[in-house]
Amino acid sequence: MGVANKTGQRTENVLILGAGPAGLSAAIYAARADLEPLVLTGLELGGQVSLTNTIENYPGFPDGVGGYELGDLLKQQAEKFGTRIEFDSAINLDLSTYPYEVTTENKVIKTRSIIIATGASANRLNVPGEDEFIGKGVSFCATCDGIFFRGKRIVVVGGGDSAFEEAIFLTRFVESVHIIHRRDSFRASAILQKRVKENPKIRLLLNSVVNQVIGDKKVDSIMIQDLISGNETEFKTEGVFVFIGHSPNTKIFNGQIEMTEQGYIKIDNLMKTNIDGVFAAGEAADPDFKQVVTSAGMGAAAAIAATRFLENKN
Ligand code: NAP
Repeated sequence: MGVANKTGQRTENVLILGAGPAGLSAAIYAARADLEPLVLTGLELGGQVSLTNTIENYPGFPDGVGGYELGDLLKQQAEKFGTRIEFDSAINLDLSTYPYEVTTENKVIKTRSIIIATGASANRLNVPGEDEFIGKGVSFCATCDGIFFRGKRIVVVGGGDSAFEEAIFLTRFVESVHIIHRRDSFRASAILQKRVKENPKIRLLLNSVVNQVIGDKKVDSIMIQDLISGNETEFKTEGVFVFIGHSPNTKIFNGQIEMTEQGYIKIDNLMKTNIDGVFAAGEAADPDFKQVVTSAGMGAAAAIAATRFLENKN
C-alpha cells in the first residue's frame, strides 16, 4: 500500500512513467502484487502502439488486434487490479533523496521505486518545410491521418517495418504510395517486403532522399535527390508520411541515470538501472528489439524486480 507521511502526503510504492505496453504491463504486475501503482501517461497517451493500425504479431491475437484497442485493453486490465492512471508528465527527478521525488507538470510525487517506460518518439527528417507542414500534409501517423488522403498521391519515407506496414495500410485510402528509401535494401521483414512488392498501388523510389517539402497552405511537392546520380527533381505529392525510426524519450534522465550514447537507459537483465529501486522497460531501454511483445515482457519483468526490491527494503 502507498503510505502517507506526517503531512498527509502519500508516498508511492511504484511510480511508472509511461502508459504504453511496457508501462501498462508493469502496472498489471505491480497492481497484482498489491502495490497500487501510479502510472503517468506522459504526453503521448497510450504510446506508439495506440498509433498503429493493426498489430499482427502480438501473441494471442491470430487475426491481429487494433493498436488503439490493445492499448485500451491493457489500460482496462491494469485498472481492474487497482492501478491509478494520471494524464501527467514527469519533468524532473531528484534521486539524491529517498523516497525519490519526481516533479510532474502538476505536483511533486514521492516514491519508493520507479519504472521508466517512457518509450520512443518518431524521428524527423530535419529538412526545410517538414515542421511547417505538419498537419498540412506531413504526418508521422498513418492511422491518425490516412483518411485525409483519400484518392491522393502520397509518399512514405523509410525502409523499415513501420514504413512498409503503414504504406500498405495507406493504400486503403490513397491513389498511390511511393516509398522513398535511401538505400536499395530494406530493414522491413520479409513478409512485409513481399506484401509491398505485390501491392499494385505501391512503387519504390530507391537510393533517394527527401531534401525539402514544398507548398503554400499545404504540401504540393517535395524535392527528391537521387543519391547515385546526385540529381534533384521535384515530385508532386500531397502527403509525406515519415517513418524513419524512433529515438528514446529519456532526456529528463540525462545526468541522473546511466544511458548509452544513443540515449537508451542502461539496464541489466533484471531491468535495473544504475540507481537502486529505479528500473526501466520498453523502448526507452531497448535499442535492439522494439516489439510490442518484448516491451510488454520487459514491463512485467521490471514490476517483478521492483516488487522484490520493495520486499527487501521492508
Ligand atoms: P527502423 O527499423 O529503424 O527503420 C528506419 C528506416 O528509416 C530505415 O530503413 C532507415 O534507413 C530509414 N532512415 C533512418 N533515418 C533516415 C533519414 N534521416 N532519412 C531517410 N531515411 C532514414 O524503424 P521502424 O521501421 O520505425 O521500426 C522500429 C522497430 O520497430 C524495428 O525494430 C521494427 O522491427 C519494429 N516494428 C515492427 C513492426 C512489426 O513487427 N510489424 C512494425 C513496426 C515497427 P536505413 O535502412 O538505411 O538505415
